[in-house]
Amino acid sequence: LNRRLAEFGTTIFAEMSALAVRTGSINLGQGFPDTDGPEEVREAAVRALRDGRGNQYPPGPGVPELRAAIAAHQRDRYGLGFDPDTEVLVTAGATEAIAAALLALVEPGDEVVALEPYYDSYAACIAMAGGTRVPVTLRPREGAYVLDPDELRGAVTDRTRVILLNTPHNPTGTVLGREELAAVAELAAERDLLVVTDEVYEHLVFDGEHTPIATLPGMRERTVTIGSAGKTFSFTGWKVGWVTGSRELVAAVRSAKQYLTYVASGPFQYAVAEALRLPAGYFEEFRADMRAKRDLLADGLEQAGFRVFRPAGTYFITTDIRPLGESDGFAFCRALPERAGVVAIPNAVFYDHREQGAPFVRFAFCKRKAVLEEAVARLKTLG
Ligand code: PMP
Ligand code: GLN
Repeated sequence: LNRRLAEFGTTIFAEMSALAVRTGSINLGQGFPDTDGPEEVREAAVRALRDGRGNQYPPGPGVPELRAAIAAHQRDRYGLGFDPDTEVLVTAGATEAIAAALLALVEPGDEVVALEPYYDSYAACIAMAGGTRVPVTLRPREGAYVLDPDELRGAVTDRTRVILLNTPHNPTGTVLGREELAAVAELAAERDLLVVTDEVYEHLVFDGEHTPIATLPGMRERTVTIGSAGKTFSFTGWKVGWVTGSRELVAAVRSAKQYLTYVASGPFQYAVAEALRLPAGYFEEFRADMRAKRDLLADGLEQAGFRVFRPAGTYFITTDIRPLGESDGFAFCRALPERAGVVAIPNAVFYDHREQGAPFVRFAFCKRKAVLEEAVARLKTLG
């Protein structure tokens, strides 16, 4: 393994899901739903397969139907106009979009400022691009993690090329508000930075609303926005994601993307095009269902003795385990399957400043109600 990747072992998600299977535990670790997305979307995938749409290499930028649907989604929801032919790119999940964006935009030696805790692939992709990550730590304050704009400003140097955002934020559940985004936008304009923003949980906001930073004045031209059908439609195995942005930025991302996978997910692209056209009711129900699950698990974790950061968005809850007399999230998560038959993720893996994440543990709530209830019952035996 080369030096760039030497610090990255197996992803925590693979490790913890394997542990869940091995111990027969309830897996609230890796974030994937235990119920597949809408029947009509699955049927659309079957139709595409049967009709021979997408069974051979689809066009490099993605099938036209899907690019049109993505452009319509950005326009109808956020008032963002993108040309489906030049400003939209379909990727193999958001994961490839993140990789391709960083590989395309970061020069070796460039610094990438990323919110900490950060999703694990950011660190690995910055490293693969030869960049240096500069974490800006979100601070736990009164039940939520917040971004300090001064800390962000202090992290930018002459070598900074990209600010890598994630809102709604995994694992903290923080949703960046207009004020915080305006501070990011101001900084980006002032220092001539690009913003890569991972908005895969855009439809999972329970308190407040999702604001794409690309909608702020002057930001459309310097922002690469990333979305994912895996999250929005509960098909994480299909690996359909996308990028929207200016023609120039999307062309750059496409240059890298074409040599990573070239193309992926042919028939699923047609199905996701139909999914994006589902009536507003789908998105509302999806959000309401997840909100109820958030409350069920958050209440249960509180009753079990955890301190809970009730997330404004995503399908993750970050908890503080210190009220349980614990301080090491790694040790806690390693022991949890034996102690309670539940798997969770230690937040420390998402930090460079590991001590900042040490006493925090993440639980996913994208699971059936009965599963969450059983998990809560088991966690209550911990005390
Ligand atoms: N970004 C974030 C913040 C995520 O949580 C995930 C999925 N866990 C991804 C990207 C990857 O998305 P995809 O499955 O579409 O590759
Ligand atoms: N994004 C998912 C999570 O945070 C995991 C995806 C993966 O396994 N790479 O749990």
